[in-house]
Amino acid sequence: MATLLIKNIGTLVSGDISNPILKANALLIEGGLIRAIGEEKDMDMNGVEQVLDIQGMTVTPGLIDSHCHPVFGDFTPRQKMLDFIESSLHGGVTTLISAGEVHLPGRPKDVAGTKALAILAAKSFANARPAGVKVIGGALILEPGLQERDFEELSKEGVRVVGEIGLGGVKTPKEAASMVKWAKKYGMIVMMHTGGTSIPGSSTVPAEDVIATNPDIISHINGGPTAIPLQEAEKLVRNTSLSLEMVHCGNPKMIVEVMRIVKEVDGLSRVIIGNDAPSGTGVIPLGILRVINFISSLCGIKAEQAIAMATGNTAKVYRLNRGMIEPGREADLVIMDAPMGSVGKDALSAIEAGDIPGIAAVLIDGEVKIGVSRNTPPPNRKIIIKKH
Ligand SMILES: [Zn+2]
Repeated sequence: MATLLIKNIGTLVSGDISNPILKANALLIEGGLIRAIGEEKDMDMNGVEQVLDIQGMTVTPGLIDSHCHPVFGDFTPRQKMLDFIESSLHGGVTTLISAGEVHLPGRPKDVAGTKALAILAAKSFANARPAGVKVIGGALILEPGLQERDFEELSKEGVRVVGEIGLGGVKTPKEAASMVKWAKKYGMIVMMHTGGTSIPGSSTVPAEDVIATNPDIISHINGGPTAIPLQEAEKLVRNTSLSLEMVHCGNPKMIVEVMRIVKEVDGLSRVIIGNDAPSGTGVIPLGILRVINFISSLCGIKAEQAIAMATGNTAKVYRLNRGMIEPGREADLVIMDAPMGSVGKDALSAIEAGDIPGIAAVLIDGEVKIGVSRNTPPPNRKIIIKKH
C-alpha cells in the first residue's frame, strides 16, 4: 500500500466527539494506516509516493453506517437492486454494519439455519468487500432454542454482532436476556429493535422490554419506521446509558424530539447513526449524510459533532480501529466541501445550513476508492493529485 500525503487541509474533523476538530493541515498515511497528523512542513516525506492537495477542503473519517440490511454481495433482494453498497460509498460510507441478513429469501428460522446464515454472511463479507466498503456482516438473528455453546461457536467463527432482537422468533425479554448474556460473554455486540413493526413477523418492542433485555444498542430510537411514543424514548434516554441509534428510514420528527432530551442529559457521545436500508423505505445512498444533516441543522448540533455520531461514536461501540483521525487508525477518509451554490462556505457550514456536502474523494485503507461522488452535489473545490 502506497504512502500518501494529504495536504492543504482546511478543516480536519477528528470523529472524536469530545475533541471534534484537530489543528493540522496535513495527514501522512502509510500501509493503509494514519501515520502522522500535523503541519505539512513537519512531515517526513521519505517514501511518499502520492500527494493529494485538497485546496482547503475538509477531511473527515469515513462514515460508518451502524444499521444496514445486506444479504450477500452487493445485491439486495428487498428492493431487487444491484450495487447499493457502491452507491453508499458515493455517500461517504466506508463501513456498513449488518443489523441482520433478514431479507434472505426463505430465511431459515431454526437454530441450525440462523447460525449458518450468520456464519456464512460474516465469512462472505470478510472475504469480499463490495466496492471496497468494509461490511461487518453476519448479524445473528435470535431464534428460540439457541444455547450458550452456539454463541461460543458463532463467536469463534467470526460472528461479532447480534442483529436487532425482535426480528426473529425471540420476542420477549425473558427469552432474550440469557441469550444476550451469552452473546456478550463471547464478545458480541447486541442490537435491539424498538418501535413498531417494519416487516410482517417482526414485533413491537416497548421501553421496559429493552431495559430488561439489556442490549448494547437501542436500534432506531427514532422509529423503524414507526416510532415508540416519546415518553418511552425518554425513559430509554434518561434511565439507561445504552447507545442511541438514529436512522434515516425512521421518523424524522422523533430525531428532533429525542435529540432535545439527549442534549439535556449530555448524551451526545451515545448517539450513533444508521441508514436502516435496504428496507421498505428504499435504498438511500445519502442516508447517513442526511441524518448528519438533520441532527446538525434541525437540532442545533455542530456539524463536526454530528459527524462524530457517524464515525467515532460508532467505532467505539463496535470496537473498530477506524472512525477517528488518530495515528495507527485505519485510513478510511472522506474529503468533502460545500456543494456548488450552497450558502455554506465549507463542508461544515453547509451541513449546518442543511445542505448535503459535496464529496471530492473517499479513501479506504489509504487508497482513493472514488473521486468526485456521483451522488452528492459537486464540491466547490477540486483535488490536485501529484506523484511525489
Ligand atoms: Zn428494526
